[in-house]
Amino acid sequence: MVYETDTPALEKFQFPITLIWELTNQCRSNCIYCSGSFPEKQNCGEMTHAEKKRLVAELAENQLFGINISGGEPFLSDDLLWITDELTAAGVKIMLVTSGLIHDDKKIRKLVSNPDVSFTVSLDSFRNDINDLHRGVLQSADRVRSFLEKISGERTYIALECVLTKKNCMDIADYLQETASYPVSEVRFQAAVPVSRKMYDSGLCLNDEEVRSAAGEVERLAPLTTHTRIRFVDQSGMIRNGYRKARNWGGIIAPDGTLRVNAYLPFEFGRISDYGSFLSAWKQGFSHAWDYEPLHQLIADVHSVGDIAELYRRLEYSTAHIAL
Ligand code: SF4
Repeated sequence: MVYETDTPALEKFQFPITLIWELTNQCRSNCIYCSGSFPEKQNCGEMTHAEKKRLVAELAENQLFGINISGGEPFLSDDLLWITDELTAAGVKIMLVTSGLIHDDKKIRKLVSNPDVSFTVSLDSFRNDINDLHRGVLQSADRVRSFLEKISGERTYIALECVLTKKNCMDIADYLQETASYPVSEVRFQAAVPVSRKMYDSGLCLNDEEVRSAAGEVERLAPLTTHTRIRFVDQSGMIRNGYRKARNWGGIIAPDGTLRVNAYLPFEFGRISDYGSFLSAWKQGFSHAWDYEPLHQLIADVHSVGDIAELYRRLEYSTAHIAL
């Protein structure tokens, strides 16, 4: 066991600080890099309404600081509004992660009026041909532009998330120039990770040298862009950090309640319903999920996005279950 805490104060955390909740399986996109294989998974189960109610009550009661609500596409969930209302009323900050392709104006108006709701919008290119290829839908860049106009408000925090492949990795400067037309507070670039055979076979993923080059370009351009925070997210860095510190800050809850520690690791720890509550799962061992064998051993060699791809290849794109 290498479990350790950063400081004695952290030992006092009896509950996560932040969480990612993939609220629904529903999605109308078909992204080439979808880590959840959501289009295929749409017939898989979701937590029941009663289970979602219990989870929301638990998150509020235990004073979770913040939560990313994603999917699938969260705007397709009938539960989105009551969940955001109840969580923000309890002081939980929400980051809604959306494709920006579902324009439910009633939901948009309601969410934009809530100062504790921020938005992360996925947009890989302002060009339709490239974004359509990545997202598997037509006119997608134009539709996201229109979505950005709808959520733009004085108080709204908007982040853009751009996934890089061989198709758009040379367009980073153009992309940043386009963002100037919108009140975007943050832009995050990251490389597509081949977590499915389909993605690997597409040949579109960047190799490690190309990832380094893209990260360098982002680093070069970041200081030239005022009013917007620009950064490159290295998914392998998050895994290295998890390996080193063995501290789970919260993890991911899939639509059916399955727990995972990181979006780029093929391991799951069972469902919330297996443990009775999220808190029970946390106490039973999800709080130190990074430190479970075989996960800990297998991630020791992850130093780059290419190493993550290799891990998925070795496990033949299956997800391993780890019992807490
Ligand atoms: S929008 Fe998200 S959930 Fe839907 S296919 Fe794309 S990556 Fe997957």
